[in-house]
Amino acid sequence: MNFVLSPQQLDIKERAAEFADREVAPHAAELDREDRVPFETLEKMADAGLMGLCVPEEYGGAGMDLLSYCLLIEEVSRADAGVGATLAVHTSAGTLPIVMFGTEEQKARWVPPLARGESIGCFALTEPETGSDASAIRARAERVEGGYRISGHKQWVTNGRVAGTMILFARAPEGVTAFIVGMDAECISFGKHAEKMGVISATTDDVLFDNVFIPEEDRLGEEGRGLRVALGTLDTGRIGIAAQAVGIAEAAFRYATQYAAGRTTFGKPIAEHQAIAFKLADMQTKIRAARLLVYEAAWMKDRGERHAESGARAKLYASQVANEVAYEAIQVLGGRGYMKDHPVERYYRDARVTEIYEGTSEIQRLVISRAILKEQAEAPGSVEQSRPVVG
Ligand SMILES: Cc1cc2nc3c(=O)[nH]c(=O)nc-3n(C[C@H](O)[C@H](O)[C@H](O)COP(=O)(O)OP(=O)(O)OC[C@H]3O[C@@H](n4cnc5c(N)ncnc54)[C@H](O)[C@@H]3O)c2cc1C
Repeated sequence: MNFVLSPQQLDIKERAAEFADREVAPHAAELDREDRVPFETLEKMADAGLMGLCVPEEYGGAGMDLLSYCLLIEEVSRADAGVGATLAVHTSAGTLPIVMFGTEEQKARWVPPLARGESIGCFALTEPETGSDASAIRARAERVEGGYRISGHKQWVTNGRVAGTMILFARAPEGVTAFIVGMDAECISFGKHAEKMGVISATTDDVLFDNVFIPEEDRLGEEGRGLRVALGTLDTGRIGIAAQAVGIAEAAFRYATQYAAGRTTFGKPIAEHQAIAFKLADMQTKIRAARLLVYEAAWMKDRGERHAESGARAKLYASQVANEVAYEAIQVLGGRGYMKDHPVERYYRDARVTEIYEGTSEIQRLVISRAILKEQAEAPGSVEQSRPVVG
């Protein structure tokens, strides 16, 4: 067992932290207020090679592992969880599905501009009538000569309005199917821009398709196998969202710790009142436990092991920790924590969505509990196997 990051991973962690502190954190409060995407920061991230960190070098990426990507997402999200969401969706939901499920031609054509950050990626599964139940989507892909005509309404697409490339899911004759869509295709329009509680610097938009032609060669995977693409994408993407949650928690913890050392009541810093000191101890312990779950899940993915359940555990726990730690950080600051003069109220708002997107906490529990029960049923001597055959 080895708890030490490799020199390459340590290097990316340091570079990411330095970039986040210098280029991302100073703008976070303003972007949150103004509901604005920081294109200038995204360009700098692209120049620094951070928009395709875990994309293979042959397709224009930096060729690093998923654990390195999680280190990056944690640091960026510590500075601004909205920028973290933009980067996470661009990479794991907008780019990696093509790397994982695309043909050689598709990878060569679509991935390099994404990996270089020249095109922003997005992922459109959710619709007004369905979110968790992906099999119930209604967008239709009608077969026509040379490809498909797609009509439907996709809701809450992160990066929707600013994306150049979309991974789109629609129902074709053989079932739910994934497509790669260039956002300059005709007959695509934008609906409502979501006014959100948190992660405000990541734009979230409805995208409307009115008989949009998609050529056959832009279908991602086989017709009718789109859910495999969606779930495979989310299995990996969730690890990144768990890293985002750890980043938010770490930001809240650091701010609360610094504040507690400086604020005096009853003749001593509040950090020396046991009630506050113990909050800090609990916050730090939970963050470290959550981070280890993220590292474990990323490590399993990097080793080519099944990581659906470890990713679900990491997201379930890290998102819970982000919410608890941000809540307690406000308590440590008292009334100041509730005011916009301090960033902890933003962390509290940003943390909330980590329990919702890329699969709610209830869906993570479904993934984990199904695996437990399957393992139990398959174990030698299990109740299922030793049940007497009667009649
Ligand atoms: C800020 C933001 C950004 C987003 N970005 C994207 C994006 O880029 N692309 C995209 O496709 N989607 C995106 N989404 C959508 C997100 O993935 C969905 O909101 C999420 O999957 C939940 O779906 P829903 O909101 O329709 O809730 P529902 O599926 O309607 O669920 C409502 C409640 O019921 C619970 N529930 C549902 N089914 C079960 C079950 N079987 N057992 C137990 N409980 C259950 C849920 O956990 C939840 O608590 C985004 C959402 C937000 C808020």
